[in-house]
Amino acid sequence: MIDLEEARKRILDSIKPLDVISVSLLDSLGMVLAEDVYSDADIPPFNNSAMDGFALQSQDTKGASKDNPAILEVMEDLPAGYVSTKAVTPGSTIKIMTGAPLPKNADAVVPVEDTSLKERKVYIFKEARPGDNIREAGEDVKEGELVIKAGSGIGAAEFGMLASLGKPSVKVRRKPRVGIIATGDELVDIKEEVGPGKIRDSNSYSLVALVKECKSTPVSLGIVRDKREELKKKILENVSKIDIFVTSGGVSVGDYDMVKDVLTEVGEMNFWKVAMKPGKPLAFGFIQGKPLFGLPGNPVAVMVSFEQFVRPSILKMMGKSYLFRPEVEATLVEDIKKKPGRLHLVRVHVFQKDGNFFTKATGPQGSGILKSMILANGLALVPKEATLIRAGEKIKVQMIGMEEDH
Ligand code: AMP
Ligand code: MG
Repeated sequence: MIDLEEARKRILDSIKPLDVISVSLLDSLGMVLAEDVYSDADIPPFNNSAMDGFALQSQDTKGASKDNPAILEVMEDLPAGYVSTKAVTPGSTIKIMTGAPLPKNADAVVPVEDTSLKERKVYIFKEARPGDNIREAGEDVKEGELVIKAGSGIGAAEFGMLASLGKPSVKVRRKPRVGIIATGDELVDIKEEVGPGKIRDSNSYSLVALVKECKSTPVSLGIVRDKREELKKKILENVSKIDIFVTSGGVSVGDYDMVKDVLTEVGEMNFWKVAMKPGKPLAFGFIQGKPLFGLPGNPVAVMVSFEQFVRPSILKMMGKSYLFRPEVEATLVEDIKKKPGRLHLVRVHVFQKDGNFFTKATGPQGSGILKSMILANGLALVPKEATLIRAGEKIKVQMIGMEEDH
């Protein structure tokens, strides 16, 4: 048996990022930047008002209060989007809206809430200091600054920033097309009737969802029977259209576990027993240069193995810098018992109380108990040789709902 870390290292060392392509900004959401993005200008481009109020010279408000307001002459109204041609002079002010460029010679803005306007005179009830309510040019981004690094996923904030920087197109890596194959004579698709001894194929659905959560493209290739020829045919007829294959089932050591034999026949394949639970059996290799993961069949094992091995591989192919889930230390609220010899990935719910993380298992942990995943937001990493971790002790938890990007 090899350890999870070792299996993951062997896999990731052999995975290569996909090609760099140029796409329009609108099509780039969810993809990963393949270029460092610099700004060629300051953002915001000019000093501007952070409030609706009055742009003035702060010295004119010295000693101003509710009972002793400073009284200034309003020269004009300045909405956002327009530049004033006037300069503020001692005793005068310009009524300014949020985002409008600061007029010449003004050094502060007094918010409208601290004023009262009577015809063309404004009463200022508060002293202003130089710089009050002014957003300086370049306070968000400076000209020449590296704003977003290659390897960052394009989410809502990056998308907005790229627009702000005026990038109509960006360099990203191609999204992998992930071919999903369920194996098993017992499986029926959800549209079919469930006859005696049969069960519905849930793994194809879990895997489609997991691939989508990686912002890649799932291609569900259906169910194949436990027949070598069928699996071989399915893989070979799709290999040119797929960047990475994921199969479920047929990878243990039972009579019908044909996946590793087929894979060895058509590609280069490793079969490992990984010292983890769930998800001990794992086949991994390449078919015509395309990585293939033979995951176990149990519905929890397939999801947990995907998290540990397939997700980081997909993210590496997409060009991401950060491949792994964030981990937190949480205090157990119930004992966890286990046999020694394997790392257990226990489905847990992590919650916060008074600023600390606490956690407990989501119920029975059989690798066929998919409900345990529904309730889980983390996988607690119970060390290989541990047999008992008591309530009150701390444990590391992989946060499966969270993404680490920076
Ligand atoms: P296997 O590794 O093929 O022996 O499968 C292990 C267990 O997982 C068996 O109980 C299967 O019925 C179940 N299983 C395998 N594939 C699927 C699937 N696609 N959907 C739901 N359960 C599955
Ligand atoms: Mg099977």
